[in-house]
Amino acid sequence: MEKAFYRDTWAEIDLDAIFYNVQSMKQHVGSHVEVIAVVKANAYGHGDIQVAKTALEAGATRLAVAFLDEALALRKKGIPLDVPILVLGATNPQYAPLAAKENISLTVYQSQWVEEALAYAYERPLMIHIKCDTGMGRLGVKTKEEIERIVALMSQQTDFVLEGVYTHFATADERKTDYFEFQYDAFMRMLKWLPVTPPVIHCANSAAGLRYPNRVFNAVRLGISMYGLSPSQEMKPLLPYPLKEAFSLHSRLTHVKKVKRGEKISYGATYEAETDEWIGTVPIGYADGWLRRMQHFSVLVDGKRVPIVGRVCMDQMMIRLPYELPVGTKVTLIGEQQGARISIDDVASHLNTINYEIPCTISYRVPRIFL
Ligand code: PLP
Repeated sequence: MEKAFYRDTWAEIDLDAIFYNVQSMKQHVGSHVEVIAVVKANAYGHGDIQVAKTALEAGATRLAVAFLDEALALRKKGIPLDVPILVLGATNPQYAPLAAKENISLTVYQSQWVEEALAYAYERPLMIHIKCDTGMGRLGVKTKEEIERIVALMSQQTDFVLEGVYTHFATADERKTDYFEFQYDAFMRMLKWLPVTPPVIHCANSAAGLRYPNRVFNAVRLGISMYGLSPSQEMKPLLPYPLKEAFSLHSRLTHVKKVKRGEKISYGATYEAETDEWIGTVPIGYADGWLRRMQHFSVLVDGKRVPIVGRVCMDQMMIRLPYELPVGTKVTLIGEQQGARISIDDVASHLNTINYEIPCTISYRVPRIFL
């Protein structure tokens, strides 16, 4: 069989963890609530089709992505037409007939969109979710007049079906709940403006689903916690069930050498060996999404945390080894080794960012292996 990749760096995606995280949310919110698996951005860097299939096996009934292109890619990769895929972002109305043909539901957030979409012919019904802006300030309808106009315009085309209505919270992952309550109340008010109630009503991302299982209407849009990550640090003590992290990142030493005290390492010659040291070269760099700012962080080798020394290059970086180790020794950048662990949250904290960004940033050049 042809080998799928030849480099010594790879990410492992634990699909059992994804399965468990989806099932846990399903149990948490109850059988009357649908799980919409959010697999945008290549499933937050985990692999769109593999995560989508696993989530569906675990009981998710719908998928969501950010762009029409991502939804079409999922169809091409084998997600059958009867699995609804919702595009959460904006789609140019000229592509609405294509979305309809592929049973891809679109988000509508202003009446002008419907006016423009009315100009095209449809082979199949177009499923529409109206997005309400209750305080996120990104996409969404804000007034009663606008909602009524959208519904009235939709009635001019029998192929337009109001499948859903939704909103998105800006602070559901924060300890303070007043803004969440403000948005929730606004959504309740806006639902009453709809002359008809669509079958799918959804407001919850992971944070809201985890915290308020009885207030999610009838669907949850499950993103970050499906990947086993907490929506925020503040939410970690509030998690109603343990999450299983699905993503880990590994490499192997490609070169091992002894350097003498005073010798320098990498671009800018910023690192100088303090004593005679064993230095290992690891074939991962900023073009893989392992950013230059990872300098001064650590990785696991032989079960020990060791520092990254010198600047991270485009394709390689160097680490200081505790002792001589053979070329080929496994290096774990994210994940576990002999009981020691570096989590995505550790990497995010070093980069002063949120965990969402880390697997998304690990680039296409790092092959994903599915366990
Ligand atoms: N819904 C919308 C509209 C989103 O933009 C996102 C993610 O950014 C989600 C749901 C999933 O959120 P989370 O990953 O926090 O579960």
